[in-house]
Amino acid sequence: MEVILADKAGFCFGVKRAINMASEAAVSRKGKVYTYGPLIHNPQAVESLRREGLEIINDVAELDSGVLILRSHGIHPGLLKGINPSKIEIIDATCPFVKKTQEKAKLLYEEGYRVVVLGQAEHPEVRAIVGYAGDEAVVINPNQSLPELDLGAKVGVVAQTTLNIENFKQVVGHLLATTKELRIFNTICNATAETQKAALELARRVDLMIVVGGRNSANTTRLAKLCATCGHPSHHIETASELELEWFRGAKRVGVTAGSSTPGWVIEEVLDRLRSIGKSRSPKEETVTRERN
Ligand code: SF4
Repeated sequence: MEVILADKAGFCFGVKRAINMASEAAVSRKGKVYTYGPLIHNPQAVESLRREGLEIINDVAELDSGVLILRSHGIHPGLLKGINPSKIEIIDATCPFVKKTQEKAKLLYEEGYRVVVLGQAEHPEVRAIVGYAGDEAVVINPNQSLPELDLGAKVGVVAQTTLNIENFKQVVGHLLATTKELRIFNTICNATAETQKAALELARRVDLMIVVGGRNSANTTRLAKLCATCGHPSHHIETASELELEWFRGAKRVGVTAGSSTPGWVIEEVLDRLRSIGKSRSPKEETVTRERN
């Protein structure tokens, strides 16, 4: 059994940066270090950060001192208003691409556009972006039927950074037919698009795909759905312990990909387990290949 790891898989630039900033703060700061909500959507990575000394809080009003790390998804600007900067140090680990989306939403709002955010209303990144549009933005989830909305004469569009480009085009096409003035910022992040592209290309060539990442990770879930469109079985797992021997019966080539919040060590454990499953079937073969374009 040959196991092929997709060319682009696992931590993206923004997540890597946020994790590094958090780990560095846990070591260098004397006081308590907190993150507002989980730093990234991966239970194993969050647990590993907790062991380094980071604590998760769900309400910034709970804080009266210490260091607060803003996660890669960003934070609603209203939540920062109650923080006393002389008592609480803020380390902003918002991904620069997410920050750019927030800035575009703010700009559109200030220039009088009705801001439309394409994405999942309940996702923390989207909730924060809405805050930069004066809490008046309309969120449209392209995976649901498009609502009949009177958005007015001037409409400005931004997208959750992990949105699929086809979904983006579909909603923009719809808005184009119903709006006099439409201003669009394509805020989709290349990292997501590249991971999706590499996963799709691989999924077409293998008998089975394993998608590794948090079940609470929107981009991993989307990756798993995308791989499943290729017609072969696709399994979304969080850790190697979830792999079931039964899945690999008759499979000659197995593809592996991972969401942008999946740590490298979790991927390595999955590859090790697949390696041992492969070795048990053909002991002389090296089974894991890493794709590099
Ligand atoms: S997927 Fe893109 S926007 Fe999101 S954290 Fe990673 S690099 Fe930033």
